[in-house]
Amino acid sequence: MLSKTALFTGTQVAYFVVCPTKLWLFSHFLTRESESDLVALGALLQESAYSRAEKDILIDQKISIDFIRKGEKIILHEIKKSQKLEKAHEYQMLYYLYYLKRFKDVEAEGIINYPTKRKVKKVVLAPEKEKEIKKILENIRKIISLPSPPKPQKKSYCKRCAYFEFCFGD
Ligand code: SF4
Repeated sequence: MLSKTALFTGTQVAYFVVCPTKLWLFSHFLTRESESDLVALGALLQESAYSRAEKDILIDQKISIDFIRKGEKIILHEIKKSQKLEKAHEYQMLYYLYYLKRFKDVEAEGIINYPTKRKVKKVVLAPEKEKEIKKILENIRKIISLPSPPKPQKKSYCKRCAYFEFCFGD
């Protein structure tokens, strides 16, 4: 069974979906791309498009996210610039919902906002998604315990990745 200390940040869950090499590198060299950069970007978009949402909350130093309360319901809001990594965004949000349920006894729903596309995606932690998240957390643990990063696999996202030179430079 997973303990709270064995859990990871939302960024690590997103990177697991994007690329195991990136997950490994990020987890071993946390200074290359920091979580705070992503939070800063979210905050910037939030100011212009979602100024009524409550500000960032940081839970157990692992989850940094905006939320609003509607009556008894907690709704987490994540603001993303582009839909290119939509699947990673979805699993990052599912992880937040899982974390809140598992360790804070809080049932929540997620909303991912893409202001530039005027799109909103609702995320619900259905039982099969919860199982998937548990499996993902086990796999993240396995990947980051490897002594060296998994072999890089080139994909369209690589051009925008901070580790491009590391993976494919001369
Ligand atoms: S450059 Fe590509 S293969 Fe290397 S870490 Fe980034 S996404 Fe992964």
